[in-house]
Amino acid sequence: MIYKNNKSVLNYIFGNGSKSSLRPILNDKRTVEKDIVVYFFDIHFKVDKNFLKNIDIKKTDIIFYHNTKEEPTTQYINGIINQLFNCNKDKICAIVGIGGGATMDVAKAVSNLLTNAGNAEDYQGWDLVKNPGVYKIAIPTLSGTGAEATRTCVMTNKDTGLKLGMNSDFTVFDQIIMDPELTKTVSRNQYFYTGMDAYIHCIEALNGSHRNAIGDAYSSQTIKLCKEVFSSNGMMSDENRSKMMVASYLGGCAIATSYVGVVHPFSAGLSVVLGIHHCIANCITMRAMKEFYPVEYDEFWSMSEQQNIVIPKGVCNNLTDDQYDRLFDSTIVHEKPLTNALGNDFKDILTKNKVIEIFMQM
Ligand code: ZN
Repeated sequence: MIYKNNKSVLNYIFGNGSKSSLRPILNDKRTVEKDIVVYFFDIHFKVDKNFLKNIDIKKTDIIFYHNTKEEPTTQYINGIINQLFNCNKDKICAIVGIGGGATMDVAKAVSNLLTNAGNAEDYQGWDLVKNPGVYKIAIPTLSGTGAEATRTCVMTNKDTGLKLGMNSDFTVFDQIIMDPELTKTVSRNQYFYTGMDAYIHCIEALNGSHRNAIGDAYSSQTIKLCKEVFSSNGMMSDENRSKMMVASYLGGCAIATSYVGVVHPFSAGLSVVLGIHHCIANCITMRAMKEFYPVEYDEFWSMSEQQNIVIPKGVCNNLTDDQYDRLFDSTIVHEKPLTNALGNDFKDILTKNKVIEIFMQM
């Protein structure tokens, strides 16, 4: 029996208004020798400067606005590292990611690459990172992906089409600040799609074979909270946004100790081949999941109906043969989750015809 040693986020702060804790935390980190903080903001903060006013950004600090229209690529991360190497990288004392899952993932990847030589693509996989990254903090402004809690940061290598993260204990944030006030202005659709990522992570984990008691407890509680939020009339009330932020964190903890299942590999295919964002791609994939997750399929569609959320339909109709080939390849490559869900012989179940038939149902 091999016992897995699980890593969690070292410190967390939770509560309305807690974003103000960032300033004292960073002040503690700055010394005369190391005084540059590198910020990754979701692009919408470029317009909404209210939040920035409360952060004590120094002249020497470096700010990147991450355009969330595109999910992070290894090429994009490498470009940032090159820029940081051109300034004095030894003076960087902290990396801060403020945004949704993609922005937080960029912060994680950059932190690791500042202390590990090579390119982002060299670390796509499991436990390849050798040295602890630069101290990193996340402030999520969307709830659901769980990126604030996980040990991975998902990136796509545009040259090879591989969508895979740096799965490592060193990828885990040193500090997170969860302030439910920050999700007040999210659009309803985005709130639903992203929130459902937490629900989907946990239904996949609980239906898989790679289980453990702690992961199951995280998953059950996450699903309970998601069902309360998305079956209620005001899914974005103050109370529900708080619940959703807890669900996101717990869902991230759940997935850090287990694996996803059938939904995420198909969703990754949609992202890699058709450029559809992760969370909406999961929801589209749910159209074809009745045979794998019958109970959760009914729950999901009843919640989306209750919230009056439109999920795109027919996205895989009339594609080229080459696109169907690539959809198949970029789905079947996810062996760990597919084995978790369907067993070692998953390729006998998910033949090429079967996979394309599933995509056609979406
Ligand atoms: Zn996900």
